[in-house]
Amino acid sequence: AGGAAAPPPRQFKLDPRSELRVEVPPDAPLRVRLVAGTAEIFGTELPPEGWVPIPPRSKIAIFTWHGATLELDGVTESEYPSEETPMVIYVNTHAILDARRARARAAAVQGGDLEASQGPRVIVVGPTDSGKSTLCKMLLSWAAKLGWKPTYVDLDIGQGSITIPGCISATPIEKPIDIVDGIPLEMPLVYFYGHPNPSINADVYKVLMKELAKTLERQFSGNAESRAAGMVINTMGWVEGLGYELLLNAIETFKANVVLVLGQEKLWKILKDAVQSKPRIDVVKLQKSEGVVLRNSKYRQKSRGFRIKEYFYGITNDLAPHSNIVNFSDVSVYRIGGGHQAPRSALPIGAEPVADPTRLVAVNISTDMIHTVLAVSYAKEPDEIISSNVAGFIHVTDVDIQRKKLTYIAPCPGDLPSRLLIASSLTWYEA
Ligand code: ADP
Repeated sequence: AGGAAAPPPRQFKLDPRSELRVEVPPDAPLRVRLVAGTAEIFGTELPPEGWVPIPPRSKIAIFTWHGATLELDGVTESEYPSEETPMVIYVNTHAILDARRARARAAAVQGGDLEASQGPRVIVVGPTDSGKSTLCKMLLSWAAKLGWKPTYVDLDIGQGSITIPGCISATPIEKPIDIVDGIPLEMPLVYFYGHPNPSINADVYKVLMKELAKTLERQFSGNAESRAAGMVINTMGWVEGLGYELLLNAIETFKANVVLVLGQEKLWKILKDAVQSKPRIDVVKLQKSEGVVLRNSKYRQKSRGFRIKEYFYGITNDLAPHSNIVNFSDVSVYRIGGGHQAPRSALPIGAEPVADPTRLVAVNISTDMIHTVLAVSYAKEPDEIISSNVAGFIHVTDVDIQRKKLTYIAPCPGDLPSRLLIASSLTWYEA
């Protein structure tokens, strides 16, 4: 009802090195089938036969290196072939990274030092909608196809592709990213910032990057294979002012040695000048794809809500979250960052109170928390919260002040893995 009747299945014959760009509506199914030839979606090959469902709201390109015939079945918002893509440039970049991985592995086998056995640490930067996450996916999937297990690091708290927004996270990519299921979620390492915008507390964002980098460094030092495979780091689309400062901070914190700049000459130039004193960092300018779909801030805000929903209900709505009730006294909720460290009266005479942006503040449970997301910390003690990663998230559905009870949904049944919870400004309203 409402929408147009579904069009009949239709075929597209693609020339070598061209792609079919498709936008899927929010509520109508679309599937695609490879009829002849070979094709891939952002680095992951389409199976030779059978229909592949494309998740709602996807904006994809089905690319072929050698030519293909594709069939679409279902409703789209747009579908058109294009022969102008930067894919050859991207795959050449991949080839260079691949050679560096091989060199790092060879060095490790010969007992070389940590420096020589470190594979490429690639950071992808550029304004919003320049195709950063997409390029990350391709580089990861192409590497995984060759047997590498690169680590994907996502610093984009606005539109995270590993877990819900408001997090910075990392996960090893062991096989090409699944077209339907996306990034594998078995073992992500997630640090919770709690807001979609870094300016709310940039110091906390920096501290969390440091914690994530430290943990990855530790994992790499014991794992030559993932060390050689290196990292692919996705960043936020904020490239000016504080956003730019955070990019430089990320390059340094994760010891990135390849900076790929998408779609902005100016940013490339500035970054090149900024890191030129550090000879081992390559700053490379890459063309942006015209296929990248622009998403306005309203759309982005909406898609944040969908990401949260997906966490609880699954991408294809195939999961059922579990509702649970806890007493206020069973949990402790904290907010990271809050005002001044100590009241003036508690300081030595003449000393000024110093704002500690990373201070932990205990939060009273209130009805304001309804519809917000809380993270469940792995910390054992409150003062470990900022340096600890999180086990997962719950969504507050009700707060009963009188009976002192909080109702929430969680992806798994049973008790929470920890009683220490982190508050956030992330909300999602169940329709
Ligand atoms: P960024 O990370 O820079 O904000 P994305 O990589 O997320 O940008 O791209 C924005 C949107 O455009 C995504 O939905 C992505 O799937 C889509 N997209 C990227 N490249 C193409 C393409 N060649 N054709 C169609 N859609 C694309």
